[in-house]
Amino acid sequence: MDAKQKELNFSTIKEVLRQYLQHKGFRNTPERYTILEEIYNMEHHFNVDDLYLLMMQKKYHVSKATIYNTIEIFLDAGLIRKHQFGEKTMTSSSYEKSYFDKQHDHLVIYKKGSDKEIQEIIEFCDPRIQGIKDSIEAAFGVNIDSHSLYFYGTKKD
Ligand SMILES: [Zn+2]
Repeated sequence: MDAKQKELNFSTIKEVLRQYLQHKGFRNTPERYTILEEIYNMEHHFNVDDLYLLMMQKKYHVSKATIYNTIEIFLDAGLIRKHQFGEKTMTSSSYEKSYFDKQHDHLVIYKKGSDKEIQEIIEFCDPRIQGIKDSIEAAFGVNIDSHSLYFYGTKKD
């Protein structure tokens, strides 16, 4: 993505946030925009601890409570999505930016012989899933808004 496109994307998501905060009557604090920008600079999934550490490294002091609170806001505003990548991480959800992303699904690979320790998370997009969605919509006369699909496994020898 070039710098100009990135800048355009930032102004779009900031506007989404601004309107959301206004609509909900929440305070329009600058730190929310800073956190949002950090999230949209990330290429990978993250959890609250990752984000907290990142903000500390950037000498930007926000409390974990603020991060939790801000994450809830971003989720509700449709700016990020939440994942549970495994039993071990049940206490710590993962998140990712979602506003410009195509829908994709996740393959969670555990380290072999470990107690569900995550080795790698692969994102994939399989058009057959859209096909399943279309036929389910037709069969049951519904509109499907979202779905959740995770595959869990280990690498073959
Ligand atoms: Zn993802």
